[in-house]
Amino acid sequence: MARPAKATIDLNALRHNYQVAKELAGGGRVIAIVKADAYSHGAVSCAQVLSPVADGFAVSCMEEALELRTAGIENPILLLEGIFEASELALVDQFKLDMVVHSDYQVQALVNFNSVKPLRIWLKMDSGMGRAGFASAIYADVYKALSALPAVGEIVMMSHFARADEKNNALTQQQLETFQQATEGLQGDISLCNSAALMDVELARGHWNRPGLLIYGVSPFMDLHQRAKDLVPVMSLESKLISVKTVPQGSQVGYGGRWVTQRETRLGVVAMGYADGYPRHAKNGTPVLVNGVRVPLVGNVSMDMLTVDLTDLAEAAVGDNVELWGKNLSIAEVAQHADTIPYQLMCNLNRVPVEYVGLQTVFNEAETVESNK
Ligand SMILES: *Cc1c(COP(=O)(O)O)cnc(C)c1O
Repeated sequence: MARPAKATIDLNALRHNYQVAKELAGGGRVIAIVKADAYSHGAVSCAQVLSPVADGFAVSCMEEALELRTAGIENPILLLEGIFEASELALVDQFKLDMVVHSDYQVQALVNFNSVKPLRIWLKMDSGMGRAGFASAIYADVYKALSALPAVGEIVMMSHFARADEKNNALTQQQLETFQQATEGLQGDISLCNSAALMDVELARGHWNRPGLLIYGVSPFMDLHQRAKDLVPVMSLESKLISVKTVPQGSQVGYGGRWVTQRETRLGVVAMGYADGYPRHAKNGTPVLVNGVRVPLVGNVSMDMLTVDLTDLAEAAVGDNVELWGKNLSIAEVAQHADTIPYQLMCNLNRVPVEYVGLQTVFNEAETVESNK
């Protein structure tokens, strides 16, 4: 029997969440962020399913962009960090990519470049995130310098929020004001929203919105957000119980003996470990679903296995289904128990086979709609 650990990716849920993002965006366009292999959901598979409806995709580097182009994706693709060296401009031009410009060396490269077609540039402002982007004080000057270049066509004015996942945070308001003041009088589309801002900051919605996490069906808000109920988690991490046994009170469990049984205990072993991307720092008590019922993780997570306390789930047996996160157990809750964020748990996914479901339904949607009439 094959090892039962696997990740299931529900492509119907992906399409559904994209539509939720479209509704949140009002009339605005929605760029699906598929960097880092679509947060481990598989960039090509996700882009193929979204391409009939998506206004565009965004990735972090040329390699990720070319992977999509090679797979036949023709939608706009945005390089979120732009080019890393001048030689990449020829590829930007050839493969019709959009690029962020956040630094002087990128402006310089454009000064010296003759493009076949003028490029669409996303000029990034550091409005308070304190990371990449031009300071608000010089933004208009860079905009004017860029717009004078033959290689530059449309300029989209963009910025990124640092704390939009904290409701009503003052910095978000401040970033908005900084952005609005610094772009006053400049022509062009605006792009500000990540998932959190799209869900929560109505004033920030723009011509182009850039949700990532919410496309994958997960809310970036730690507490329950009113709009989160419309999202359907796309990824489920699943496995099975491979051992169930009773150990006496006072038994040490796992590496380091971090957990010691307080009573005679039915101990379950799940084929899932940190080599699969399950967080080693998940604490005792992190919820795990066995046959849909919550049981606590106990002891240190090992490379290939983890242990759960099944004492209160008398009927649990070898071969029973385990969900580590997914539709019935929020990845955000698991992340909280491991002192991290759902983004990192997704990105750390590793080794497990990925199974796609729902694809057929997506491709047959038109027919289904017809036959339902
Ligand atoms: C990754 C990224 C996003 C998406 O962020 P989410 O929180 O996943 O919605 C949006 N904009 C930029 C510039 C990014 O790098």
